[in-house]
Parts: sequence; C-alpha cells; structure tokens
Amino acid sequence: MFKDDQLSPMPEGDTIHRAAVAMHRALAGRVVTRFESVYPAVMRVTVDRPVVGRTIESVASRGKHLLITFSGGLVLRTHMRMNGSWHLYRSGVRWQRPARDMRVIVVADGVEAVGFNVPVVELLTPRELARHAQLNALGPDLLDPAFDHAEAARRMRGLEREPVGDVLLNQRVMAGIGNVFKSEILFLAGIEPFTPVAALSDADIERLIGISREQLAANVMTRIQSLNPATGRKTTRSLDPNNALWVYGRGGKACRRCGAPIQARKTGLDARLTYWCPHCQPAAGSRP
Ligand SMILES: [Zn+2]
Repeated sequence: MFKDDQLSPMPEGDTIHRAAVAMHRALAGRVVTRFESVYPAVMRVTVDRPVVGRTIESVASRGKHLLITFSGGLVLRTHMRMNGSWHLYRSGVRWQRPARDMRVIVVADGVEAVGFNVPVVELLTPRELARHAQLNALGPDLLDPAFDHAEAARRMRGLEREPVGDVLLNQRVMAGIGNVFKSEILFLAGIEPFTPVAALSDADIERLIGISREQLAANVMTRIQSLNPATGRKTTRSLDPNNALWVYGRGGKACRRCGAPIQARKTGLDARLTYWCPHCQPAAGSRP
C-alpha cells in the first residue's frame, strides 16, 4: 500500500505522517494477534510486557518518528532513517518486499503492518516515552496543527553561525524536513543554502518557516488523496511528474525559473547533496 515510499528518495516528515494516517485508519481499535521483531532488545521487552492481546489505540507521527500506541500505554517507536518503510497488507497477500527485509511486524485482525529495513525499533513504557531524549529534543512538528511558529524561529536564531540548509535539517529546530524539502524550500524562499542564520532577516526566517509548513502539508494532502500511489513529492505546480521539483536532483540542468544551471554540492557528514540556483538564490550580502 505504501509502495511509493520505496520510490521516493528518502522518508521525510510528509511520508511518515502519511504512513501514520493510513496505519491509524487500518489498525486503530484492532487487537494484536501477532507481534515479532528481528531485534532481540525489542523481543526482550515483550517477555514482561506482551504486545499480543493489546488493542492498538493510535498510530501517529512525531517529526520523522512513527509511534504505535497499544492499550496499557506501551508504545512502539520506529524511525525509518534512509531506507526504512512500513507496508500494510491484508493477511495472506504476498508482500512486495522479501521476508528477509522484515524488521518488525504487527498483525491485528487480518491486517499486517510490516516494517521493512526499519533501522530503529523500540518498545517503550509510558515512563520511558515521557523521558525519551530524542523525542523530547524535537523542535515543533511542521505537520502539527498546533505548530509553534515563534518557538521554531527562536530555535533557528539559536544556531546563528550554522548554514541555513543544515539548520532546516536539524530536527531539534523544526521536525519533519529531509534533504529533498531542504533544497526545495530554500529555492522557494530565494535563500542560498550556505547562508549563516545570522545573515537572515526576521522576515526571511518567517518566510522559511511559512514555506516549510505549506510544502509539507501540501505534500501530505496530495499523496493521501492521490489516485496514483506512485506520485512522488511535488513543490512546483506542474502536473507533469517530471517537473515536480524545482532544484532537487537537477544538478547541471537549467533552472525552471531563470534558466541558470542548477548547482549541486555534497554537504554534511553523510555527504548528502544540496541543490540550488545561484541566480534565484544569491549568496548573503549580494541580495538586494
Ligand atoms: Zn534560477
């Protein structure tokens, strides 16, 4: 059902949110009949706190974390990193991925939720969840209706010396943006990715946060409603899937707005590519 998640470059907040919505619809209220994980630490928890027999209360996203809450307060936290994905199947339907890629499976009343290549799987008690360092450190969630704009701006300002591209990816500032959206949001804002936050005006920061929320929300909606589940992310208004993005993945090609060649540079520890248009996104100081 989430076949498209394998096709997108990597899971970002919109993908996780969309998976959580679909999983909540399919699983909430059902009783777990089978639970397994290849991770011994997860199975050790089930010795004292079995998952089988519990009702699935909710499935929700927090940034790029996906949380399945079972009755009694037990929570399964997963994080997809680069390659993980959740699939939903009716029991008996052949999986679209090999069984060896399965890392965790939750079966409830004939529905199978299978986590393939999910690198982070944890079963947490309510107390552990409340104290969870990574979850507590997350900045405001861009897909949360109660998103705290001022808090996100304050957290950005707290990293004055860092390039704005890195700050957008920092889940402690705002939760939900991955590498594709980073490049696209900066293009839409007309800001060069290597500009230190200190060089941005308050209006720039307001605009960046506004565009970030719009883009994630728009991508959740188009992909939930899409009749074609293979439809990927889209930041342009084009109906042609080949023209869906402004700059991401378009190194050396002509900017869709001005025709200048799109630049690409490897950045950060994991050497992910950043894309930008040097004309539409002039460096700090050269902007009017
Ligand atoms: Zn351009």
